[in-house]
Amino acid sequence: GSEMCIRDSFKAFTDNYIWLVATNEGLLVVDPGDSKPVEDFLEKSNEVLSDILITHHHFDHTGGVEKLNSQSLLNVYGPTGSIFTGINRKLKEGDSINVIGIDFSIIEVPGHTLDHIAYYSENEGEPILFCGDTLFAGGCGRVFEGTYEQMHNSLNKLKILPENTKVYCGHEYTLSNLRFALEVDAENIFLKDRYEECLDLRNNDQATIPSLLEIELKTNPFLRCDNRIIQENIMQKFNLNAMPVEKETFKATREWKDNA
Ligand code: ZN
Ligand code: FE
Repeated sequence: GSEMCIRDSFKAFTDNYIWLVATNEGLLVVDPGDSKPVEDFLEKSNEVLSDILITHHHFDHTGGVEKLNSQSLLNVYGPTGSIFTGINRKLKEGDSINVIGIDFSIIEVPGHTLDHIAYYSENEGEPILFCGDTLFAGGCGRVFEGTYEQMHNSLNKLKILPENTKVYCGHEYTLSNLRFALEVDAENIFLKDRYEECLDLRNNDQATIPSLLEIELKTNPFLRCDNRIIQENIMQKFNLNAMPVEKETFKATREWKDNA
């Protein structure tokens, strides 16, 4: 296999991340919402971009594609049925692709948008996931185009990946997510520790991403809708007559966050 490294991440706009992955077979970026930081990197390092991975059509994830691919030589991977027109390698659930020597499998995760996909690689025992605006560190994306049920099912597909999966999401929303999580799941000791750690990182202007799926499973309320304590808290918060089931807990938690 190829030596893989996540070589860099670029900030775009205020809180977007563009991930850059390098192997001896090439260079890829994930969700380049802006071309400028990528172009600057390529110029400075004298390297050539070969591939782009797109998770969903939103402009803050696709806005740089046209410029980066102005000579139409790059493979631009993205979801089948996307309204973003710059994709030339269309992907659907279960597809396997090898990009710059890395094997990715495609997981459809509709909810935030209908066209959302995630890229998962076992990566020789060090699994990685690029999940755009579906699973965030400590939270999840807003449900814009799909239904709450779709989003919940999508997150449950990511939940079953290996616990040592490194989660590369599209935004630095971690602190505000964890502040909300502390309201939903106040008794969770892992969550308090995680919040302190992330606060330190952000105070030193460091990224909280990637996170580890194992940590998400312990602290992310949107992956913990089957947890009795969270369900009880939701029941109290919304004055429900009965304990909500998992999918009801997801919907109520997501709506609570939307209105927070
Ligand atoms: Zn988005
Ligand atoms: Fe986004």
